This record gives sequence, C-alpha cells and structure tokens, in this order.
Amino acid sequence: MTLAPTGELGRLIARRIGLTGPISVAEFMAEALFHPRLGYYRRAMPLGASGDFTTAPEISQIFGELLGAWLADRWLAMSRPRPVRLIELGPGRGTLMSDALRATRTVLGFHEAIELHLVEVNERLQALQDAKLSRYRPTWHARLEDVPEGPTLLVANEFFDALPVRQFEKTAPGWVERMVGLEPDGETLRLALAPGVTPYAALLPDAPPGAQAEISEAGRAVAATLGQRLRNDTGWALIIDYGDERAGCAASLQAVRGHREAGILERPGETDLSAHVDFSALAHAAGLPTFGPTSQGDFLLRLGARQRAETLKARASEADKAAIDAALVRLIAPDQMGTLFRVMAVGDDRSAVPAGFSDPSDAT
Ligand code: SAH
Repeated sequence: MTLAPTGELGRLIARRIGLTGPISVAEFMAEALFHPRLGYYRRAMPLGASGDFTTAPEISQIFGELLGAWLADRWLAMSRPRPVRLIELGPGRGTLMSDALRATRTVLGFHEAIELHLVEVNERLQALQDAKLSRYRPTWHARLEDVPEGPTLLVANEFFDALPVRQFEKTAPGWVERMVGLEPDGETLRLALAPGVTPYAALLPDAPPGAQAEISEAGRAVAATLGQRLRNDTGWALIIDYGDERAGCAASLQAVRGHREAGILERPGETDLSAHVDFSALAHAAGLPTFGPTSQGDFLLRLGARQRAETLKARASEADKAAIDAALVRLIAPDQMGTLFRVMAVGDDRSAVPAGFSDPSDAT
C-alpha cells in the first residue's frame, strides 16, 4: 500500500523516516494519535455524530447506568472503602461517568466515598468532561501512574484500542516486523517488512507463513500498572473494548475518518487508528484474577439491560420508546456491538464471580 503523505504531520513523519530510517507501526501510531500538537487525540474531536466514531455510552444511557451499578456493587464487595479512587481511562465526552454517577446516587455512602480521577490527553474532551462532571470535582491526569494510590474502582471503555501496536508477519525464516518506510520518492509513506527475523518472535505464537500478529506494549504496560495498583491497594477494574479470540493473531489495525474506513497511513493526525484488544495479553500483564472476557451483549443483559429499557420506556413518548429499543439493539445485538465488544473484569478477590460474568442460573 502506498499513499502520498498529506498534511503537516505526514510530512514530519516522512522527514523523520528519511533521516533515521523506517519506524515500527507502533511508533507511527504513537505519532499519528499522540503527537503533542498534531496528533489525532490531541487536537480532533473524535467522538459523536460529527466525529469519526461513536461509542456505547453515546448510544444509550443504559450503558453508563449499568456500569455504575456494577462499580457500586464492587465497592460494597470491597467493604465500602472511603475514600475510593474512581478512575476512568479515556472518558471521552464524560457521558459514561455522568450516567454511572447519576444511577448510583442512592447507594448509601457511595458518592461521599468517591474521589474521581480522569485519565485524558485531549484538552477539548477534558473541557466536555468538566462540563458534565464538575459537581463531582474530578482531577485530570495524563497517565494512570499519576493517580494517587489507594483502593480503586476503574473503568475503561474503548481506551485500550487506541494504544499503539506493533505488527508482524510470518515468513519462511520466521516472524518479521512490519515497518513504515518511504517510497523511492523520499516522501510517500509505505508499509514494508523489516529485513530480519524480529526479536519479538519469542512472544509470538507458532503459525504458518503468511500469518499476521500484533503486540501492544503500551497496552501491556497500562495493564501491568493497573494490576500492581489493584494488588497493592485492592480494587476492581472493568475493561470494555473490541477484540475477538483471535486478537493478537491477526492484523486488526484499522483507520476510520468521518465514519468511513480509510488507509492506515492516510492523513496521519486526521484519521482515527484503532486495533483489536488482546484481552489475554492484558490479563497476563495485570497478573491478577480476571473474569471474562464475556460479550458486551451478555454482560449488559445479565446486568438487567432489558429491565432498564422497560423502565425508561414506561415514562417515554412513542417516538422515544422506539429510540430506546433501537439503542439497546445496537448495544447488544450480535451483528452490532453485542459480540465484537467484550468485557473483562480484573480484581483482587477470587471469592465470588462479579455481576455480569455468569448467568444467574449458573449460580450454585
Ligand atoms: N470512553 C469514551 C471515549 C473513548 S475514545 C467513550 O466510551 O465514549 C478514547 C478516549 O481515550 C478519548 O477520550 C481519548 O482522548 C482518550 N485517550 C486515548 N489514548 C489515551 C492515552 N494514551 N492517555 C490518555 N487518554 C487517552
């Protein structure tokens, strides 16, 4: 695939490659998404109808409300620590957290115990989060490491899919890394295989020639930090993202601009890049008991999504009733977000399966 570098960031990346040689797909992704001035997550307004993609909490309030109930239940299971750091990684427009907190107002003592910490790099999104959540007096951080220690409840929806991945291809001699280099014209970006077998081969599975793979070192690092935190300070985390069983064993990196698929090298900084999340790699890095991943559809249904929709519909106009049903279908239907998106809990307590991870009828 070859594409002319367009835009200032594309030219900066091409110049850097011209000076120091090809870069990994992960380095390209880090520049394209997080360049301090021109990166996609630094400047664009990615979410919402006018942005490049929409997310579950923007589709229906039921999503954030049920997640709020889940978090409050874990707080009770932790014997109501006070304070508890309620952390969200990548809160977007603040919708999930605002729905979660509204839904848990009546949980005795919960709001008094909460200290809200938001991990966000996008200043425009921070302003939106502030508008929705200021009454809970949030603190913003650039990284999870910066959140003060202490008992933790953490939620991350569509956060890990934005973290850079390296890509690999299996050739006859072994696994080789896919790199971003330049066409002979010296300015057009292109994908090409590195010359030798990669030292990452030890982390990759046995596979026939032609197979592809991805590793997110950034994702593993965040999961390791999270695991350490939950181990030291107790707590629970809920990670929701897209990725099937094959995540890690495929080239899943995709580009979207204006709700349309685009080329991954196209217009860096103006195009969203995301990759499927390898939940088993995150679980391994966290080093704690995990539950799931289970499908988003099953998880929400087990938490009572249908009952919640009925309650909302009882008070709604006919048009709103249809909209509530349609939104629920988007969240849970297997051909929409229900199966591709999956949910994994990480916790410090092996004693009981948290809500949403087994059918009530499975309980003994
Ligand atoms: N959770 C929200 C938004 C998902 S989009 C929702 O469900 O609607 C991803 C979010 O993570 C955005 O808010 C983005 O700015 C933020 N983000 C992405 N990578 C980040 C990083 N490395 N550090 C901090 N925030 C990041």
